[in-house]
Amino acid sequence: MINVTIWNEARHEYKNAVVASVYPEGIHGAIAKAFPTTDFVVRTATLDQPEHGLTDAILESTDVLYWWGHMAHGEVSDEIVAKVKKRVLAGMGLVVLHSGHFSKIFKTLMGTTCDLKWREANDRERIWTVAPAHPIAKGLPECILLETEEMYGEHFDIPAPEELIFVSWFSGGEVFRSGCTYQRGQGKIFYFRPGHEIYPTYHNPQIHQVLVNAAYWAASSRGATPVYGNAKPLELLP
Ligand code: ZN
Repeated sequence: MINVTIWNEARHEYKNAVVASVYPEGIHGAIAKAFPTTDFVVRTATLDQPEHGLTDAILESTDVLYWWGHMAHGEVSDEIVAKVKKRVLAGMGLVVLHSGHFSKIFKTLMGTTCDLKWREANDRERIWTVAPAHPIAKGLPECILLETEEMYGEHFDIPAPEELIFVSWFSGGEVFRSGCTYQRGQGKIFYFRPGHEIYPTYHNPQIHQVLVNAAYWAASSRGATPVYGNAKPLELLP
């Protein structure tokens, strides 16, 4: 079983009636429904819980952490961010969603501003698969169509992705690197663009498929844990 924890700041849902009607169980609740119970144990955590719902015990037992935040990035404690980063470097998977591009955890792991262009104008989005052989693209069509979404446009100030899985086109003319993978330490990181809070993106079965594929990929097995520091020779030295 893969242990998934879905973290959501969960503020828009309480402040905006439109968001509350689109996500009555919260964005985290909608994302949680993506995961088949045959392979996953899913927990959710939110900003206003003690330790933001990310206690040491929960982080230690999480294989893949999902992160949705927007209006309250600054309220996330630096101490918790440091703990999440340590777990990622030790091998926990991290899937950063949509406006999570400006989260403390994503910016610290990327080392760049993670800035981009944006527009809330009901753009149509076409998410093109550009790495069809990648496990995150498994079972997906050549193009996922979202009738209405927020636009994110290039330039997206991230390090060059190690693998680029999806590229988005928007009806306003912009393009965006929508699905990007990175490795940091032993951790596997996936950034996935769509998911503005007023649109039903996290109810879309194809978006669910991407999220589930990302969990299998980010939780997939690694090699031996590296050993650092002063090392005794393995052979007789001259
Ligand atoms: Zn947004």
